[in-house]
Amino acid sequence: MRHEIKTNTMDSSAIIAKARQTQPQRVVFLDRDGVINKKLEGDYVKSYNEFEFLPGVIDAIRNIKQKGLMVIIITNQSGIGRGIMSEDDLAMVHEQMLADLKKEGVHIDAIYYCPHSPEIGCECRKPEDGLFKQALMDFNIDLKNSWMIGDELKDIAAGKKAGCKTYLLAQGELLLDVVVHC
Ligand SMILES: [Mg+2]
Ligand SMILES: [Zn+2]
Repeated sequence: MRHEIKTNTMDSSAIIAKARQTQPQRVVFLDRDGVINKKLEGDYVKSYNEFEFLPGVIDAIRNIKQKGLMVIIITNQSGIGRGIMSEDDLAMVHEQMLADLKKEGVHIDAIYYCPHSPEIGCECRKPEDGLFKQALMDFNIDLKNSWMIGDELKDIAAGKKAGCKTYLLAQGELLLDVVVHC
């Protein structure tokens, strides 16, 4: 599923149509928890007061965008499927995250999430690559020259399955330290 990202100038369908016309875009796909924000061990970010940006992450995203790459978040949010939080809760978290980024002049191109619990065996929960396939329907993406950056092996497995280059953050390693390679 995709969280719509509003802009002042165009609605999302216009942006998507525009994206299709352009040359294939290089993308940095980012996992969310443990890459963008602090992971809550054994819990889910259910509201924005539980959301904390990791150090340097806003500058990291800004750097990626300045290099002309798109930034797309690909995130498992099984707290929804487990009944711990709702899709509205997640939408609120993402809306406020995007608003805070916007204040810093940083724009994220899209957010795709899997709401299912693992038992369902869906095709979108990482390590599956269904969320990448959803992104491919919305944007013209040069997958071979794109990156998936995550903090867990399932992120890397999903990125490899989709056909991206991948980078596994070591414990304590920050996104800002690795974006120079993208
Ligand atoms: Mg993670
Ligand atoms: Zn799913």
